[in-house]
Amino acid sequence: MTDSAVVWFRRDLRIGENPAWGNATKDADSVLPLFVVDPRLMAAAGDHRRNQLVAHLAGLDEDLQSEGGRLHVAVGDPVDVVPAVSGSANVYWNDDYTPYARRRDGAVAAKLGDRVHRFHGNVVHPPGTLLTGSGAPYKVFTPFSKRWFSEPVRHAPEPGPAAVSVDPGIGVPDGDEPLMAGGERAALDRLEAFAAVVGDYPTTRDRPDLDATSRLSADLKFGTLSPLQIMDRIGTETDGARAFVRQLCWRDFYAAVIDAFPHTAQRAMRPEYDGIEWRNDDDDFSAWCAGRTGYPIVDAGMRQLAGEGWVHNRVRMIVASFLVKDLLIDWRWGERFFRRWLVDGDVAQNVGNWQWVAGTGVDAAPYFRVFNPVTQSKKFDPSGEYIRRWVPELAELGNAHIHAPWESGPLELAAAGITLDDTYPLPIVDHAEARERCLETYQRARGRAGT
Ligand SMILES: Cc1cc2nc3c(=O)[nH]c(=O)nc-3n(C[C@H](O)[C@H](O)[C@H](O)COP(=O)(O)OP(=O)(O)OC[C@H]3O[C@@H](n4cnc5c(N)ncnc54)[C@H](O)[C@@H]3O)c2cc1C
Repeated sequence: MTDSAVVWFRRDLRIGENPAWGNATKDADSVLPLFVVDPRLMAAAGDHRRNQLVAHLAGLDEDLQSEGGRLHVAVGDPVDVVPAVSGSANVYWNDDYTPYARRRDGAVAAKLGDRVHRFHGNVVHPPGTLLTGSGAPYKVFTPFSKRWFSEPVRHAPEPGPAAVSVDPGIGVPDGDEPLMAGGERAALDRLEAFAAVVGDYPTTRDRPDLDATSRLSADLKFGTLSPLQIMDRIGTETDGARAFVRQLCWRDFYAAVIDAFPHTAQRAMRPEYDGIEWRNDDDDFSAWCAGRTGYPIVDAGMRQLAGEGWVHNRVRMIVASFLVKDLLIDWRWGERFFRRWLVDGDVAQNVGNWQWVAGTGVDAAPYFRVFNPVTQSKKFDPSGEYIRRWVPELAELGNAHIHAPWESGPLELAAAGITLDDTYPLPIVDHAEARERCLETYQRARGRAGT
């Protein structure tokens, strides 16, 4: 037993299945639960994520109050704040794997020396633990996933009897209405609700018009649930459960990739694609950001991003492909915009997926796969329900026309109250031409690199 410990909460805003919390409350007589509001991270987050964070902090504080304690909130650079608040106490935390988090944690650890106790509470298998036969990080998902499913997992210990500090510091800041109810208990309710429908996941998961995916991404981002809690509840016995848990494996894969290849946060994993001559047209980028490209499924996705900060995975792929391939705008512009506005915005997942769509990353989509936004829309939002929800000016268009309003006749448009180029934009690019332009541009970059 040591006298006192600090648990520095970061992306693990829960008490259940939390290795840092479980170990600290077993090892120490008293524990101070600390959250540091880092102005640098706050500046990179839009309102959706900030409001969700504040709601989760309030939830954690409530849970700690039922243990007789309070969450201690402080503000400033963690490299100064954590050593100052902890004094001579031991400090426990669960690791994070982005380049910024690793630099920050390295600097804090250097100040604290052997008082630091680090764990992994945010992934199923920590980065660096699953390696290829030759000891290298995996760059291909399928063999990674085979290992991932077959390795035993390690659960956190149950919390121990330590007394919890009652000092709230500056207290949890106020926030506006979050997208989802805050805290671990609300997250567990969401998990229960999803567990009841996971059997349908393989057939419905690609449909943005149905509320068929778990929407647990923000809980995983903030750690109101651990991926192990989710796996324990869902299991892997049925096809639905296995298809779903495979997505958690993708999440671990991208955490392992950014840990092993931190440069991919800024640059292409495949260097030949750093030479792509992006158009980077400001007007096109503004139209994409505002959901005014003239392609209804793209506009619906971008408006959902602005409106609630969560977007269905299929639609994320469609809007990202449109930006990178149809508009030839650098994937990093899109990644930055997404990261700011997504409630689940997470460097490892966002970069991994943007590079997948751009064809520049590990095990990425081939560069010549260019999503056709109209075909995708017809296939995955067949009745146009999703588009109607987010692009209300098109709501009166029939199913046959809503995916490509410019192909409608004047009578259909008039009957639906639409004047193209006025109440709704004309397409800002012709997809067939844009596709050709994209392929030529990628081929030039590959030619220059000799690939
Ligand atoms: C361009 C682009 C950017 C993205 N940016 C992010 C991001 O910043 N943060 C983020 O959490 N996810 C990101 N994703 C992945 C995915 O879109 C979301 O995780 C998913 O839509 C969240 O909804 P859900 O929880 O209902 O997913 P479900 O389908 O219920 O999946 C369960 C969980 O598995 C994980 N998962 C699902 N799909 C993926 C995937 N493609 N890659 C990695 N993990 C996945 C998530 O943690 C998700 O919560 C991005 C995808 C694309 C195409």
